[in-house]
Amino acid sequence: MSEEFTPVSHLGEFGLIDRIRDRLGEAAPEGDLLCAIGDDAAVYRVSEETAHVITADALIEGVHFERTFMPWGYLGRKAIAVNVSDVAAMNAEARYAVVTMGLPRNVSVQMVDALYDGIRAGCERYGIHLVGGDTTAAPQMTLSITVVGEAPLDRIVYRRGARPGDLLCVTGDVGAAYAGLQVLIEQQRAMRELGDAYAPDLEPYRTVIARQLTPAARTDVIEDWKRRRVRPRALIDVSDGVASEVHHLCRASACGAVVNGAALPISPETRAVAFERMDDADTFALFGGEDYELLFALDPDDADRLSPEQYTVIGRFTGRDEGIMLHTADGGTFPLDAAGFSHFDSESDPGQPSMEQ
Ligand code: ADP
Ligand code: MG
Repeated sequence: MSEEFTPVSHLGEFGLIDRIRDRLGEAAPEGDLLCAIGDDAAVYRVSEETAHVITADALIEGVHFERTFMPWGYLGRKAIAVNVSDVAAMNAEARYAVVTMGLPRNVSVQMVDALYDGIRAGCERYGIHLVGGDTTAAPQMTLSITVVGEAPLDRIVYRRGARPGDLLCVTGDVGAAYAGLQVLIEQQRAMRELGDAYAPDLEPYRTVIARQLTPAARTDVIEDWKRRRVRPRALIDVSDGVASEVHHLCRASACGAVVNGAALPISPETRAVAFERMDDADTFALFGGEDYELLFALDPDDADRLSPEQYTVIGRFTGRDEGIMLHTADGGTFPLDAAGFSHFDSESDPGQPSMEQ
């Protein structure tokens, strides 16, 4: 090992993943391996007709959540949901999970009970089975989950299939989880400052807080596509923010894209939180993350086979040379920065609860 010390922040999370991929040198899919590092889950063939997918995601105290505002049961449910979401992002169905749990000394048996009640509820909701894991001491609460899923080979959708002319679409609404995070961080601060005088009225924020604490994987959308025999051409889940995910789809598909800011689906509650903070709801939607909605490329000929209330067209894919652009509501056109949350970027403060998976 050399004496060199390059901070990981010089590469950022995605740069580091690229470096790991190069170093492993074995990531090029071949034989039964259909997709390795670089998508929401790896994919391998298990029979003539069937593929399995496998994915892992961790939730770390102080990085992904704070105990003061994340009840243990919610943590368990969220940990399952974010992993199932990555399986849904391959258009596959989650089947089995294993959990690795790192426990600090200040976690009690009762807390672990509550955590596993949440994990069980998550497993029941998505029809998966928890079949093992690992338990270890750790400096802070750490939960890492691996999920395997399954799909017919011809239903798997990768990040790489978008073509110029495809519609850029997103399910549900975006920016709400980030709005919820803002509210929770403020409440935590108020609780510290006011002590016994703290008397919050959280009712107006109920939906955005729920989106942050108990996000849902859009397995309902996957099932609906199956029923309608629609298969998007490219697919990713929104964990790091719409802008970052558009970049991932474009990079994998060698496309450009235009995002129409005015078309972003943003709920009135999210808009209210942004407005109260003199912030911009479009920024929440583009850069916030943790929405776990599905972002996809749709052949325009398939558009009328989908139910309009389940998705919104927010732009279209273009040629790679056209870049990745944002049309703003006031008529401007700018290059769309990828800057969602990325671990290790110098501007990201790891001490702050963040919005990344
Ligand atoms: P997602 O946001 O969908 O969970 P990530 O951005 O975390 O995806 O990961 C992108 C890709 O990089 C995935 O294919 C994932 O398996 C891979 N990856 C992430 N971290 C590592 C690592 N430490 N070693 C190997 N592969 C990794
Ligand atoms: Mg993902």
